[in-house]
Amino acid sequence: MAPSRQASLRRQLHALAEPSGAEAATAAFVAARLEALRPDGLLTGLGGHGVAALFDGGRPGPTVVLRAELDAVAVPESIPLRHASRTPGCSHKCGHDGHMAILLEVARRLARARPACGRVVALFQPAEETGAGAAAVAADDRFAALRPDWLFALHNLPGYDVGRVLVRPGAFAAGSAGLRVTLRGRTAHAAHPEQGRSPDRAMGELITALVTLPPRPDAGDALELVTVTHARLGDPAFGIAPGEAEILATLRADDDDALSALRKQATTAARDIARSHGLRCRLDWEEVFPVTWNDPAAAALVRRAARENGLAVARPRESAFRWSEDFGVLARLGRGALFGLGAGRRHPGLHAEDYDFNDALLPVGAALMHRLALEALQEPAGSPGGSRR
Ligand SMILES: [Zn+2]
Repeated sequence: MAPSRQASLRRQLHALAEPSGAEAATAAFVAARLEALRPDGLLTGLGGHGVAALFDGGRPGPTVVLRAELDAVAVPESIPLRHASRTPGCSHKCGHDGHMAILLEVARRLARARPACGRVVALFQPAEETGAGAAAVAADDRFAALRPDWLFALHNLPGYDVGRVLVRPGAFAAGSAGLRVTLRGRTAHAAHPEQGRSPDRAMGELITALVTLPPRPDAGDALELVTVTHARLGDPAFGIAPGEAEILATLRADDDDALSALRKQATTAARDIARSHGLRCRLDWEEVFPVTWNDPAAAALVRRAARENGLAVARPRESAFRWSEDFGVLARLGRGALFGLGAGRRHPGLHAEDYDFNDALLPVGAALMHRLALEALQEPAGSPGGSRR
């Protein structure tokens, strides 16, 4: 059977896969498709390669932003697909190709029938995976000038029934921060390690300290997690006592205050251990994502639109998903909600090598996002509700 128009578009985007921050061809592809729809405005080069198309109802009303992501992930395509990624070591294993195809279909519907009031912005955001893209888009004056009232994004979620909508008010996805610790001593001959200063023991102590950082006394079952993701001691050799070590860890929490407390604890542990071994210590923070916080009114709109489209709605099993999403940065610009769309109970997991977006979600996702935008346009704009704590 020939793929649907949406599926064929999704597969073309899949083949184009580009890493975060380097989405030039994907952005050009999306911009060309949007331009053909004759939107009321088209912004390119937003915070890097970001693209946004405006569909204006011509009468006053809220501004609703719908977001998809342009980037692929650094996972090789290891399954035989006719639409396989043409970029070595990089493929759409997070389903952003599907999210883009969904948003292009919503744009097509809005182009055919403009909203009755207000305007809808279809935003294709760069560099989601590194956490840099949303902040760069938010910092772009042309995007800030749109002054969004409502912001929505969906993410496909393997492990849940196809088309099930997962949403909750409050913390939806964890905040996280990548910590790179470099410990520096002095190399020596491996026969005379006492003449140098190897970070070997400090490295072991720091790994243990990081993965056992004590939780806050009032943490309860709240998420606080440190995962050591990489460690390196010197370079591979038998004749040299190493003089440098590097440890990478990801810190996660479902509350922004808890995440900053965790960062402070990790910083103190690294500095104290380095000092006690007479080592120099450098700390770099990378890939920092705030908690994705869903505004209660925005989450309620997602539930309503889903029910009206005949979709089952559920709260996620976890208090907040442990993964991070930089949509949290955009959501703060107005009333925002990120929600999940079940991709199938047995569908391969996000970032797994055998993952490919489930095309069955394309019509479901497009109809839902379209409905959601129209619903939000009927709601008066107002200040975001709920506490971020
Ligand atoms: Zn993703």
